[in-house]
Amino acid sequence: MMARFRRLASHAAHEGWYPGFHHVLRTIQAAEWRTKAELDLRQRDILRSMITFAFAEVPYYREMSSRLGLRPEDIAAPADLAFLPILTRGEVVAAKESFHPQRRQCARYHEGATGGTAGTPMCYRLSAYDRAIMLATMYRGWGYAGFRQGDSTVVLAGRSLGVGRGKPSWERRLGDLARNVTKLSAFDMSEPALDSYIASINRVKPAFIRGYPGALQVLADRVIDRKATVWSPRGVFSTSENLLPQMRESIENAFGCRVFDGYGLNDGGVSAYECSSHHGLHIDTERSILQIVDEQGVPLTTGIGRIIATTLTNYAMPLLRYDTGDVGEIDADPVCTCGRPRILLKKVWGRTTDVLLTPEGAKVHGWFFLYMFWDLGKGIKEYQVVQETVRDISILLVVASDFNVAVIDEIRRVVSAQSPGWVVRIQVVASLRRTAGAKTKFIENKIL
Ligand SMILES: [Zn+2]
Repeated sequence: MMARFRRLASHAAHEGWYPGFHHVLRTIQAAEWRTKAELDLRQRDILRSMITFAFAEVPYYREMSSRLGLRPEDIAAPADLAFLPILTRGEVVAAKESFHPQRRQCARYHEGATGGTAGTPMCYRLSAYDRAIMLATMYRGWGYAGFRQGDSTVVLAGRSLGVGRGKPSWERRLGDLARNVTKLSAFDMSEPALDSYIASINRVKPAFIRGYPGALQVLADRVIDRKATVWSPRGVFSTSENLLPQMRESIENAFGCRVFDGYGLNDGGVSAYECSSHHGLHIDTERSILQIVDEQGVPLTTGIGRIIATTLTNYAMPLLRYDTGDVGEIDADPVCTCGRPRILLKKVWGRTTDVLLTPEGAKVHGWFFLYMFWDLGKGIKEYQVVQETVRDISILLVVASDFNVAVIDEIRRVVSAQSPGWVVRIQVVASLRRTAGAKTKFIENKIL
């Protein structure tokens, strides 16, 4: 009875938020098992509409297409996007209003900004329809783990998932109630707070837990250290940060269920969700085109590179070939054993935008550390690399009980090889400092 009431309330709240949401959701869900050829065809259709719109209505693209001598029909498929230059976040920040379409129909939009962990904050607009597609693809993605709309969820996160420092507004509380979400704050990860979070989870008995992997891992450690009894949900959704192998293991052990990783960006519209085969994250094709490109900007079908996004449904601020600042690994073949025809994002390595400087005047990109910690990361739960001065590099590690201290020398050797002038200090610490949004910043450069 209660479950039925919950579902009805959830249905009404979603329709109030975006009239026609369930129609959008059904369309998105119906595409879950479509063949690759069908998905590609549909994607080409919406790409053509978007390009036609952008070249005609968006000043930035109108000017660019005339400068490059491009007509909308020149970009008929994702491969043709190579005619356009890659767009950086800095360029969007610099050109600001010229990305806003001039047509009045685009008046309904939501404004957001990229977080402080991602370099220069960038303001973006999302149309109401784009946000409906975003939520619908998210529900479909969670559905790979068995989620159904209205299922109870406990969220442990910070600002980017709508958890603030103070008391939430009544609108937010009403929204959480309708979506059956209980929020716990990653701003407070003190021991009394963690114990109260465990009690909340045991009281709510959620179908799913969702949150930042860094925060979920601290909670998982508390459960294990205290040998606490904790409710086991059907799955844990991890999002917004890099999920390191050690984090996945701790969280799965503490909660007695599998972790399903998710990847999504508001500004680029890309998203991908892990299925129960756990071979990677299935890339959504309806809201954005996700491409992985090499150093020269050439799209890869298999391998590691920068994640580039082209928005398909956000008519409030189209971004074409937008460099998300993330590094990912793609594998177009073989398809997943679950049978879904969507291509797999094998792994999100992390952000490219963080840079360290050497006394010799070279730049070392953040993904050097991402690679290194994937290789040497056994027993490392979390890490943070801090450039204190041009000579001083501090590496902070939060380690598990199976951590082999010999790895410290190996890390020092690999990092020192990047610059003979660096003095590398490696410290094992109990916890890392979180950002103002309660996320973990893996690389922090204090001199930039
Ligand atoms: Zn799969």
